[in-house]
Formats: sequence, C-alpha cells, structure tokens
Amino acid sequence: MSHSNSRATHGIAAGRLGAEELGCNFADVSPPLSADAAVVAADRCHYCYDAPCVAACPTGIDIPSFIRKIGNGNLKGAARDILSANPLGGMCSRVCPTEILCEGACVRNHQDGEPVRIGALQRHATDFQMAREAAGAEPLFKRTSETGRRVAVVGAGPAGLACAHTLALAGHAVTVFDAREKPGGLSEYGIAAYKTVDDFAQREVEWLLSVGGISIEQGKQLGRDLKLEALRETFDAVFIGIGLGGTQALRIEGEALEGVRDAVDFIAQLREARDLATLPVGRRVVVIGGGNTAIDATVQSRKLGAEHVTLAYRRGSAQMSATWAEQEFARTQGVTIVEWMKPLRIVGAGRVEAVEFERTALDANGALQGTGEIERIEADMVLKAIGQKLLPAGLEALQLTDGGVRIAVDADGATSLEGVWAGGDCAGHGATDLTVQAVQDGKLAARAIDRYLAAQAVKAA
Ligand code: SF4
Repeated sequence: MSHSNSRATHGIAAGRLGAEELGCNFADVSPPLSADAAVVAADRCHYCYDAPCVAACPTGIDIPSFIRKIGNGNLKGAARDILSANPLGGMCSRVCPTEILCEGACVRNHQDGEPVRIGALQRHATDFQMAREAAGAEPLFKRTSETGRRVAVVGAGPAGLACAHTLALAGHAVTVFDAREKPGGLSEYGIAAYKTVDDFAQREVEWLLSVGGISIEQGKQLGRDLKLEALRETFDAVFIGIGLGGTQALRIEGEALEGVRDAVDFIAQLREARDLATLPVGRRVVVIGGGNTAIDATVQSRKLGAEHVTLAYRRGSAQMSATWAEQEFARTQGVTIVEWMKPLRIVGAGRVEAVEFERTALDANGALQGTGEIERIEADMVLKAIGQKLLPAGLEALQLTDGGVRIAVDADGATSLEGVWAGGDCAGHGATDLTVQAVQDGKLAARAIDRYLAAQAVKAA
C-alpha cells in the first residue's frame, strides 16, 4: 500500500490512491479455495464424534458431515448441510470470526497448530450451490404447500432474512419491511468491502428470496412508516429484527468539529460507493473503539490511502470485542493500536486537528480509572466506533431489557406481546452481536412462529 499517487497535501481528500491500487487494496481478502485445495483441506478433518466445532457454531451446522461430502465431491450435499442450518451460510463463511468459533474449537489446533479451514470450505460449498442455482439448476430447497398465514418481518438484516426464509419454506407468506434502500442490513451496509466482494450481500438476498413466498418493501421504518399495532392487526405474527439503528456519542468537547464522524456511516458510504476514488479520507485518521466496526474503519482508511491510522481503545486488547485475529490483521495493514487511552477532547478550530487522550488503568477493584497522563494524537479525521444503540421508536408496547437498550425476549425470541417475536442485535438474551447469532435468532423465532401458527389453526378448527 504505497501513497505515490496521493494528490492532496493535508486534511480529508478523495482520490489519494489511483484506481489500480484501490482495486488491489479492496480485492477479496480471503480468496476462494480451488477445487483441489478444497479436497486437500477437507482431507485434514477427522470427522470427530461429538465434534467441538459443531458445538462452537451458534447455528449448529453439521461441520464434519459437510466436510466429508466436500471430500467425496458432493458439493450440493455439503451446501444442503450448511444452508439448512444456516440460510446465510455464504455470508457467515466470509464474516464469521471462525478463530473464536468453529476453527478455534477444531481439534487439529492441538495436533499441528492449524485448524481445518472450515470457513473456507463452507464458502466453497455454498458458492458452488448458489452459482448453480443462479445458472438455472434446481433449487436446493422447496416450499411446502401454502398455509394461508401471513407474517410481517421488520428488518431485512441477517435475523430478518433468516426468519423470512425459514417461514417461507414452511409455507407462510412473508412480507419483509426494511428502512433502507437495499435489503441486507449489516451484510450490505456494515461489513468491510474486502470481505464481501462482487455484491455478494445482494446475491445472497436474491438466493434467499428465490425460494418464493417472500416480498420485500424497502424504505419502511418502524415508528415512522409502520406501526406495530397495525402490523399485529394485519398479519398473523410479527418478527422484529431491526438491529441497532442509533449511534453512541462520545460526549466530549470537539465532537461536532468538521472531520469527526461515525465509523458506521463511513463504512456504509464505502460499501455503497461506485468509485472508491471519490471517497474522502484523512491523512491522519484516529478511530476510537475496540470492536469489529473500529477495525473495519481503520483498515479501510488505510486501504483508501490514509498514511497514519491509529485505533485507540480505553481498555486493553484482551477486552476488545474485535478478535485477536482481527487486531493482528489491522496491524499487518499498517494500523497502530494504542490501548488504555480514553478520549478527553477533540481539538481544532472548526476542523479536527488532534485528539487528546488520558491514559487509563484498572484500580485495585478492577474499575477503569484515568491516570492523569495526557497524550495527544494529531488527526485530520476522527471516526467514532463506540457502539450502536436501539432506536426505540415504534417499540413502545414492548417490554425492554438491559436498561431499555434491548427488546426483552425468551429463548425463542418471543417478546412480551403475544404474536410478536424479536431477534438479532435489537433483542436481548445476552447473546453476541455476531451475524451468525442473528441468523440463529431469526431461525429459532421462525420455528416458534410456525408452531404458534399451527396451534392457532388447531384452535380455530
Ligand atoms: S473439530 Fe476439526 S477435525 Fe474435528 S470434525 Fe471439526 S473440523 Fe473436523
């Protein structure tokens, strides 16, 4: 990543790198396996009984079964194993932090220090099947006969799409309402571009919808264009998977200076840009936060041509929600990670010039405290990646939890309101913010809704 084509001398500017360099920088970070490499990778699997990799997968994919099928050349069967447990298995193979899930649990780690490449194999099988179906092959899944029941799904992110697909297969008619221009939620707007090249998020949505029985209405936001009560009256059940639409503020001086923005907006703008050379980026970028959004923002700033990119986190790397592999990847891309630094104020006259931090440490009770040592990092762009929050508009009738930041749900995603389920980041059952967990939430809620609708039909008979 050189900066030889840089045209701007200071501040935020577009076109720091030429088209060729940008093309290289934003190419697929983890290119697909060749057919031969997939067979070699599959051959390393021991097909463990009670496999720890399966237990570590939130969607419970039968990993040894699909790997065995890849080894035998049965890619369609492998895809069926994956997609029946996780309809967004293609996206998850690209974005899952496999190092702390299936691959982290693989017994091969203890033998030769290298797990079976489960994520890459999953991508190999799902890409194969999706490409076949796009070329006109018979679909893997078929809907059962129509039940005549209608379900509203609010939010076309991973939770909503998994829920809609599972309900549609069970014969229900699903209408998905989504606030943005395109479906996909975080898959479309919130993931680093180099993880999901070639418009994969939209290709996956097309595959999910090809099962039939699902219609999507874009530009419909709960609380603005939709009322929960009206949805309950019009539909037989409702699933809410709206994610976390609000961003947290730092609440420090200088936050309104030009050049300070939310990392989620930066990432979304990058994902939707037709020409990456039009995207403005600073020369000296400071990203505040410790999650995957923070990592994606730092790496993409570097890839756009920023010269100095610093990720600052108020605790240590062990407490970051970004995995060690993500942190290591950022370092290999030239990102400097500074730990135990709390932002005090953003300095500048109209435009950001620097961020002042106070060093932090844990006191004897384990509480985070400022040490009084002040550090200043020069910056012409500051990206805030300190988390997102639930937008409560339209949720007034629902019980919330965790101090009002999540919708209260049971293990199946049922909310406090009869006939309404919720899942993914907006719902709270102590789960993670992972795509794969959102998929599992949507799938489990869909099964619960299916049981509920069947019970309703029996009552009505
Ligand atoms: S733990 Fe590793 S070796 Fe065992 S079944 Fe899973 S992928 Fe194969």
